[in-house]
Amino acid sequence: MNYDFYMRAALTEARAAAEAGERPDGAVAVVDEALVARGREQVRSSGDPTAHAVVMTIREAARRLGTSSLSGLTVFCAIEPCAMCVGALLESDADALVFAVPDPMVGAAGSVVQLATGDRLTRRLQVVSGILQSDATELRLAYADGRDARSGAAPRRS
Ligand SMILES: [Zn+2]
Repeated sequence: MNYDFYMRAALTEARAAAEAGERPDGAVAVVDEALVARGREQVRSSGDPTAHAVVMTIREAARRLGTSSLSGLTVFCAIEPCAMCVGALLESDADALVFAVPDPMVGAAGSVVQLATGDRLTRRLQVVSGILQSDATELRLAYADGRDARSGAAPRRS
């Protein structure tokens, strides 16, 4: 599987989310090398706190494939998913998760908690991280700078 190619597509969604004033996260879903769904963070625009990129993408994949059991699915996303999103991946029977940058605040695929690969749940995901990490990090920093500029605070790069 061409990890860079699909991650680039996820980062395109993340960029669109950032341009819409959302957290810069985007995702795509892939089955048998075919891109079957795309999604991006839409929490602010929709007023739905669960409208994270991974959840939006899983919903779209299930709708397009006409099934709620998404075995064979790999989801690529810019930012390490939260507990809700990893939970949604597990509930959907997806096979694998690929993300670009870890999230030290809420990441649930190893950074804060590990829900994806543990042996206490009956389902688990293959996890690959660090694909196009520098591109995704730049995107996050640009978003943080823009947010600071909008709020009148000095830009920071930490
Ligand atoms: Zn999430």
